[in-house]
Amino acid sequence: MLKGKTALITGSTSGIGLGIARAFADAGINIVMNGFGTPDEIEKLRKDIEGRGVRAHYSGADMTKPEQIETLVRDAAEVMGGVDIVVNNAGIQFVSPVQDFPPEKWDAILAINLSAGFHVVRHALPVIRKQGWGRIINIASAHALVASPFKSAYVAAKHGVYGFTKTIALEVAQDNITCNAICPGYVWTPLVEGQVKDTAKARGISEDEVIKTVLLAAQWTKKFVTIEQVAGLALFLCSDTAENITGAAIPIDGGWTAA
Ligand code: NAD
Repeated sequence: MLKGKTALITGSTSGIGLGIARAFADAGINIVMNGFGTPDEIEKLRKDIEGRGVRAHYSGADMTKPEQIETLVRDAAEVMGGVDIVVNNAGIQFVSPVQDFPPEKWDAILAINLSAGFHVVRHALPVIRKQGWGRIINIASAHALVASPFKSAYVAAKHGVYGFTKTIALEVAQDNITCNAICPGYVWTPLVEGQVKDTAKARGISEDEVIKTVLLAAQWTKKFVTIEQVAGLALFLCSDTAENITGAAIPIDGGWTAA
């Protein structure tokens, strides 16, 4: 039932977004890719997606720029003939005690992790409604539900994503569209790799200690979540079985938020 549908996935040139693009393409979903990278890297990734038997289009829209987000959605609808699924995934992180938190980093985190999803949804919703069926998936975080020190902007943005998710779910509830937030714990991606370095600096401990005592300390399974597990959950949310799951924040966090 997903074959031939189109998904627009922000931040799909790396990590979780790329994993979702691959899983969706394997399920026959055409992909509109977005995110940063060199032209060569991006073309390689686009060909990887296309090689899975679907159409793949790339747009380099910067998620801090509302007018570029508008163009991204318009191009996606024009090139693919519609958009059925939106995955708001692009995200960045910065770790620092609040008194030293650079205001420009706060603004960038709020813009990319929270406001970009608002702009994507406000432009994409009329397009999705035309299709008569749709899925909006926001990649939030365990930090949409609980806090950690030194991540004030990220935690604020991700809590905002959950509030936004619930609101949109209600607004589209009778349109055959669902809107949910996936809340991963730690997934080993370039974003987390960078965070290990910054957290080590902020806490004055080694990178190994950060992994053991900060990252996996919160995850009761003592395992990183995998990109494929997050992608599998996103794909499930697109299924008919999931049509009554809406407005939910679904943790995939090795028990972190259960404690
Ligand atoms: P990543 O760094 O591997 O990928 C981030 C993607 O976003 C890349 O494609 C990058 O190019 C893109 N991006 C960044 N800034 C952008 C901008 N201004 N405009 C357009 N694209 C931009 O990170 P990831 O770990 O795969 O994270 C993806 C999402 O998952 C983020 O929203 C993150 O907060 C969330 N998340 C990650 C983890 C984790 O442990 N990795 C846990 C919970 C939630």
